[in-house]
Amino acid sequence: MKQEGAAEAPFLATPLQYLKGVGPRRAADFERAGLKTVEDLLYRFPIRYEDRSRLQTIASLKPGQPASISGRILACGLRSTRRPGFKIFEASIDDGSRSIRAVWLNQPFLRDILARGQHLVLYGAVELYGGGGLQLLNPQYEILDDEDAETIHTGRIVPVYEKTGAVTPKMQRRLVFDALQRLPPDLAEQLPEDLRLRLRLPTRVAALHAMHFPPADARLDALNRFATPAQQRLIFEEAFLFQMGLLARRRSAAAERKPIDIRVDDRVRESARRVLPFKLTNGQKQALKEIVDDMRSPHPMNRLLQGDVGAGKTIVALLAALVAMENGLQVAFMAPTEILAEQHFLNISRLLQASHFRVALLTGSTAASARRQQLAEIEAGTIDLVVGTHALVQGDVRFKQLGLAVIDEQHRFGVLQRATLRTKALHPDVLVMTATPIPRTLALTVYGDLDVSMIRELPAGRVPIRTVAKPESRRDEIHEFVRGQLDGGRQVYVVYPLVEESAKVDVKAATEMADTLGSDVFPQYRVGLLHGRMKADGRDRVMKAFAAGDVDILVSTTVVEVGIDVQNASVMLVEHAERFGLSQLHQLRGRVGRDRHQSYCFLVYQSPLSDEARERLKAMTETTDGFEIAERDLTLRGPGDFFGTRQAGLPTFRLVDLVRDRELLATAHREAEQWIAKSTPSGPALEKLLTSWEERFKLIQVG
Ligand code: ADP
Ligand code: MG
Repeated sequence: MKQEGAAEAPFLATPLQYLKGVGPRRAADFERAGLKTVEDLLYRFPIRYEDRSRLQTIASLKPGQPASISGRILACGLRSTRRPGFKIFEASIDDGSRSIRAVWLNQPFLRDILARGQHLVLYGAVELYGGGGLQLLNPQYEILDDEDAETIHTGRIVPVYEKTGAVTPKMQRRLVFDALQRLPPDLAEQLPEDLRLRLRLPTRVAALHAMHFPPADARLDALNRFATPAQQRLIFEEAFLFQMGLLARRRSAAAERKPIDIRVDDRVRESARRVLPFKLTNGQKQALKEIVDDMRSPHPMNRLLQGDVGAGKTIVALLAALVAMENGLQVAFMAPTEILAEQHFLNISRLLQASHFRVALLTGSTAASARRQQLAEIEAGTIDLVVGTHALVQGDVRFKQLGLAVIDEQHRFGVLQRATLRTKALHPDVLVMTATPIPRTLALTVYGDLDVSMIRELPAGRVPIRTVAKPESRRDEIHEFVRGQLDGGRQVYVVYPLVEESAKVDVKAATEMADTLGSDVFPQYRVGLLHGRMKADGRDRVMKAFAAGDVDILVSTTVVEVGIDVQNASVMLVEHAERFGLSQLHQLRGRVGRDRHQSYCFLVYQSPLSDEARERLKAMTETTDGFEIAERDLTLRGPGDFFGTRQAGLPTFRLVDLVRDRELLATAHREAEQWIAKSTPSGPALEKLLTSWEERFKLIQVG
């Protein structure tokens, strides 16, 4: 994609250490922040922009608004206060129109930095203080040396960078300014020219200049929303290159042939019919068809099965597994927790009882001797389907003929783990199922290398769940209501939050609640307790008892979060609902409403609620649509938290913000698809694109 003849920029690859003004110490500071080269420095947005083209005069300041001023220090010093150890640094600043007081709380070191006579630019909140005068409280400051003040640090809209170790925002502004001067004017373009022109994007070099040192007519508010043409162009560039890499990688995977052709004949269809306990919904049929078509195509499948909680993804995956097994292939079925793996195992074993296929369970708590035995059988091919946790992708599991890998509740499984799985010989077909619907743009970004099948409707006859949020003080009313449900023969979940740092406390709370419910509130009903600290067989016993209806009320920490399926349960009572994330609450609620009974979700919270918690509970009572919940959750929490952890396989972007830039991401995805369809990178060119891409987005550590 590089334009022929344009200057490939060795300058961009220059280590920061070789820039004037950056020695080894500052270079080390930069490196700790992930900045190694000039390119890294230039491809980083300022945290904000400040308009210093028209600095306000001190005489014109009004309280209640942030302001930028520039002036000299008339006097300054450290002052003690009545509170022992609490010091205030005070300076009187004059700009010729007036003087104003600036105060910094508890920053005594300023004594060694600021001095009388210095020329400062200050940015901060203007407020009224005691005597009715104005002051600047904890303003950001920069000391100007008179020679470059005019060109770089004032008299224009200036970029403010995040402080990096000992490298101040001002030093960085200077460095970026110098680096931009040395940038070759014919710097190689990263975007195809016709695309760039069609989308009316500025050139790369112009965008880099304007992003750091905006032209005089740039709008401050647009800059601070990262919405100027220059900023958008750079964001788009990153998103486009990322999508190109995803698609190219997928194309190279598609070139690897699968070892066996999959047949679907009457025998296979009959076998599926025998297993199926109900009629598939149209959505399930459609998804299954897409999956099986994909399995039959000569290249490996890489598919995401999306569907709201309770949409019935499991049976679709099992039918796909059956097709693989009928064709003599093995299947790995993976879940994020042991308890879910156990549930899948029980379910699948039951459904496959009448078949000749052999199913095994392999988790972290499988005893060593049993594990050895199972590994041998998996390798020999006498076990057809293995259900397990992540342990299944660990080194010592070798399959004779792995044809399909099903990964349930995807978003705890990253891109990396999927890649590991693919290296387990055979390039098996991979089917990924998400626990929580993922907003479309995010799915494109993180799973842009996957095809997507979507189950939109729930099985017939489901009644929408009623959701109510109530403060703890009204728990008695809820209990009264719950009693009615129990009397009607339904079962109930009571869930406690699990705060990992204090698992003991949580377990205690859940244990006490179980005792109280069992002895005082519902003495005539059977209460079971489930928490993460129990051994697998203990949990298993409780879960089975609940599933069999031998336990009426299941008190639990969040181990029931995903996947658990007990149709007779009609109440989900969440304690301390304010502590749960939105997607988590949606998952929990999805445990009920799995049958024809009207189901209820009670969110019991402790007042006072934070604004965010209030938003979450509001969202829960307003909608049961998983996709909408996911959108709101993403907006509330940001993508890092949305996916639980950083290791979730999210790419590390320099400029793209997965929430802010969703529209650009979607455009980039579309454009990259078109581009890759008409240009055909292959061989070494493709290899090179992929390698630099994987390094760039830190997706390389596939082991
Ligand atoms: P999820 O998509 O959340 O993983 P499950 O696969 O656990 O949902 O299915 C939810 C429940 O709905 C299960 O009890 C399952 O047996 C049932 N189910 C799935 N498909 C159908 C269907 N077509 N008709 C009736 N019940 C179904
Ligand atoms: Mg499920």
